[in-house]
Amino acid sequence: MFRNFKMVSNVVFGRGCFNQLDDILSEKRKSADAFMVFLMDDVFKNTGLKEKIPFKHGDLLLWVNVKQEPATMYVDALTEDIRSFSKSLPEGIIGIGGGSTMDITKAVSLMLTNPGTAADYQGWDLIQNPAVWHGAVPTLSGTGAEVSRTTVLIGPEKKLGINSDYTVFDQIVLDPEMTADAPADQRFYTGMDCYIHCIESLSGTYLNTFSKSYGEKAIELCRDIFLEDDPESDDKLMMASYFGGMSIAYSQVGICHALSYGLSFGLGIHHGIGNCIVFNHLEEFYPEGVREFREMIEKQGIQLPGKLGPVEDDLLEKMVNVSLVLEPLWENALGNDWKKIMTKERIKAMYASMMRDA
Ligand code: NAD
Ligand code: ZN
Repeated sequence: MFRNFKMVSNVVFGRGCFNQLDDILSEKRKSADAFMVFLMDDVFKNTGLKEKIPFKHGDLLLWVNVKQEPATMYVDALTEDIRSFSKSLPEGIIGIGGGSTMDITKAVSLMLTNPGTAADYQGWDLIQNPAVWHGAVPTLSGTGAEVSRTTVLIGPEKKLGINSDYTVFDQIVLDPEMTADAPADQRFYTGMDCYIHCIESLSGTYLNTFSKSYGEKAIELCRDIFLEDDPESDDKLMMASYFGGMSIAYSQVGICHALSYGLSFGLGIHHGIGNCIVFNHLEEFYPEGVREFREMIEKQGIQLPGKLGPVEDDLLEKMVNVSLVLEPLWENALGNDWKKIMTKERIKAMYASMMRDA
């Protein structure tokens, strides 16, 4: 069966296009007592960005905190905040922030129309009802969360996405000016998420012309940005993120992501930096990609963290399990026989070497 791929319905791109959000939302505001919810990364609390959002009387603004990666319990709590604000559903939810805020936005829009807790839906196509209309304004580029059909959440047992066609955003507002003030190291780590998406997609067994076309363009843009310091870097990284996301949407990521999920579940390490730590250890699997990644690190003057330190055996076991559950990622990377190649013991040994020397 070929995947009948759900895409974002509306996309606006360009410097300053954030100012168009008012017009976009006006079309969605159907009745006088209806309201919109804005979920905004609290890093912007004292920046003046709040004054620029098209907030109307009756709307709700919720600051979200992404110090820790999005958890199912946090999504449930935000959903409850909206339910207690009004008995009726909002006409739309707009997330303003990086991958974490975008994922929280997707998840809350789903949980407003589906019963239970977000943890019930971690997996593939478990969502029953369409979400509330939802849009995103990315303030960091790289994750591809703006185009993907998943919202990655840390639950009580696992780090796993809510993957469904209903998860996909209805509207994205791609304004490179929104990313201009991101700290250089964070910009690099999130940007490397995109680079690694492309390496894993382009070298995977699931590769097809659709994914290859997007992945090759995204990787070319990453080279301009991280090896050449192109003056249009913010614009290019925003499009690289989009294309990288499109590339994996029709293929899969690979070993780096499988191991990085375990790291963030076990040690709370954020996705972008976690990917960089893991990828630096994957020369055996992605020799060319790791060589170029190290060139980018050098060129951008990034210092990866030192050794991660020892972990208890129980926790290590959990991290290995979180990683092993991601079967499509391993299959994409290593083929049908991946279980013969990648054993529990081998993953443990790989984690152990990261603990000794990140
Ligand atoms: P993030 O959203 O976690 O933000 C990282 C840090 O940067 C936070 O402290 C945040 O407050 C800050 N920040 C964000 N924008 C800023 C700006 N413009 N200026 C200053 N600070 C800013 O970072 P991310 O790397 O974009 O997202 C990582 C998350 O995305 C992880 O939770 C990961 O699981 C998820 N993810 C999702 C998908 C998907 O397809 N849904 C894909 C990859 C990653
Ligand atoms: Zn990623």
